[in-house]
Amino acid sequence: MSSLLQAKLINDPFGEAGLYLDFRFAKRALLFDLGDLGPLSPRELRRVSHAFVSHAHMDHLCGFDRLLGVCLGRSQRLELYGPPAFIDRIEHKLSAYTWNLIADNETDFVIGVAELHGDTLAAAAEFHTKDAFRRRDVAPPATPSGILLDEEEFRVKAVTLDHGIPCLAFALEEKLHINVWRDRLERLGLPVGPWLNGLKQAVRRGESDEMLFTLASMEEGTGREVRISLGRLKTEVLRITSGEKLAYVVDAAYHCGNATRIVELARGADQLFIEAVFLSEDADIAARRRHLTAQQAGSLARRAEVKRFIPFHFSPRYLDREEQLRAEASTALAGPSADQKENEPFAGPIS
Ligand SMILES: [Zn+2]
Ligand SMILES: [Zn+2]
Repeated sequence: MSSLLQAKLINDPFGEAGLYLDFRFAKRALLFDLGDLGPLSPRELRRVSHAFVSHAHMDHLCGFDRLLGVCLGRSQRLELYGPPAFIDRIEHKLSAYTWNLIADNETDFVIGVAELHGDTLAAAAEFHTKDAFRRRDVAPPATPSGILLDEEEFRVKAVTLDHGIPCLAFALEEKLHINVWRDRLERLGLPVGPWLNGLKQAVRRGESDEMLFTLASMEEGTGREVRISLGRLKTEVLRITSGEKLAYVVDAAYHCGNATRIVELARGADQLFIEAVFLSEDADIAARRRHLTAQQAGSLARRAEVKRFIPFHFSPRYLDREEQLRAEASTALAGPSADQKENEPFAGPIS
């Protein structure tokens, strides 16, 4: 397994929500949630191209100002995604400041904001420094249902959960890693060129191994063509490794609808970052505040069959009981005992 991305929680598990995803081979990063961004350096923040915000409770959005401050003057756009009414909130945040001097900046820094309604990107707007961040409504990006962003190397999916208000949970899936062995290409007398992009796309689309590529032979002056199958190219010329999947789930009530969506989103993830706010002994408070307990988080991780489970977003009321929260989550991850099973409302298979 080789991953393009390194993920780190921005704050300690009792701190505000946020995950920083750093691209290992590019000066680029993504953010899930904009809680306190204090621990990130200006350099790390300037790399952020896209930020995905679960909902607008303060502990998930208060870091927006810091991100804005370090990105002003940047030529690269900042893309934000959030739940319904998110554009209004960003508009209000931007209109809280005075921008009379910034319109003269040479570079026009642009913030794009898109809202997910259910599983559809239904509204979008842009804010440009050159018109003092006045809102311009634009057509939302056309993406398939539940997909926020689809790039050559990865895609970001989202589902809408119930937290009393809509709250988004995210999954990032890397596509296949495909490398070309150049020496083997030469040995087969095949050229290097743009056709290799078509080859990689054919692999990612899952085309049949019988698919034929017709290429000009490298043998000089012959003008001959070589026909070679995708299957042979895959085994002889390409190195294909699977990408990683990472899921991020915060602020959700524990009920059947949410559990189904969380399990589907996180299924088979290499890493699941999930809130574990309360201990089971306070399950009634968790239900009232529409948060998960550590036990519920662990049980969802088990049902989703994730490879690595990272509980966080612990309530500060347990500052001196962190081990207990972690133990409860790990026990649930391992599987319920017979008597717990009776108390688990959604213990059955989730389809
Ligand atoms: Zn919340
Ligand atoms: Zn929260």
